[in-house]
Amino acid sequence: MYLISTREMLKNAQRGRYAIPAFNVHNLETIQVVVETAANMASPVILAGTPSTFTYAGLEYIVSICTQAASLNKLPLALHLDHHEELTDICHKVKAGVRSVMIDASHLPFAENIDTVANVVQFCHRYDVSVEAELGRLGGQEDELIVDSKESFYTDPSAAKKYVAQTGIDSLAVAIGSAHGLYHDEPHLDFKRLAEIQRQVDIPLVLHGASGISEEMIRQSISLGICKVNVATDLKIAFADAVKQYLSEHPDANDPRKYITPGKQAMQQVVENKILMCNSAGKI
Ligand SMILES: [Zn+2]
Repeated sequence: MYLISTREMLKNAQRGRYAIPAFNVHNLETIQVVVETAANMASPVILAGTPSTFTYAGLEYIVSICTQAASLNKLPLALHLDHHEELTDICHKVKAGVRSVMIDASHLPFAENIDTVANVVQFCHRYDVSVEAELGRLGGQEDELIVDSKESFYTDPSAAKKYVAQTGIDSLAVAIGSAHGLYHDEPHLDFKRLAEIQRQVDIPLVLHGASGISEEMIRQSISLGICKVNVATDLKIAFADAVKQYLSEHPDANDPRKYITPGKQAMQQVVENKILMCNSAGKI
């Protein structure tokens, strides 16, 4: 078993009208929870890491642990570069074994966004690496940066068509009202816009910032062409809250095998729920 691209996974999801959950992982334990839970439910799954996650855990460690996890669980597994911006950084990680990339040039003007992404696509497709890019801009917490959320940053459907044609990307992340991190107000997704994007664009669509959005809204977005649902914050909260509770009940605890286990169990529940929400169980 080895790490695969997300191209076939997402095409299958598009045909079957379900979504692949992409979970942000940070270390051995979070990778174990996601992969073992997905294997138990026979769900295809994507493990995602932002640049700061690779800096924190080490590229070679992450690639080795994910490769082992794929092999031990007999699961075709994609390790995905989430919100990467530098071509040299992406090249380095692709050469280390990663086969799925998100190049985020969404902060650049349209023409520069296209040029930057087209360059990355040209490199990645030589290695059979799938490429996701974002048009429009999500608000909220992005790795270590705070981005303002405004409707003017939403994805323009006709621009999306041109963007996909000129960049050659395999999947498109859309900005339709979701945000990264915690929501301060009830989130509202622009389904009319999503339906129009789906009419204009034939590649799989991606929803970022799915933590805190109701299951009903996620299901509706899947029915309108979303094939990949990114989940990060909900996992972190479940894990951290369970560890905090254990430590408050056992103030003398110092064995990581003891205090990390409740975090893993709480995270497993969230992973199971997200797989059910995406309707990806049994799709391997
Ligand atoms: Zn994101």
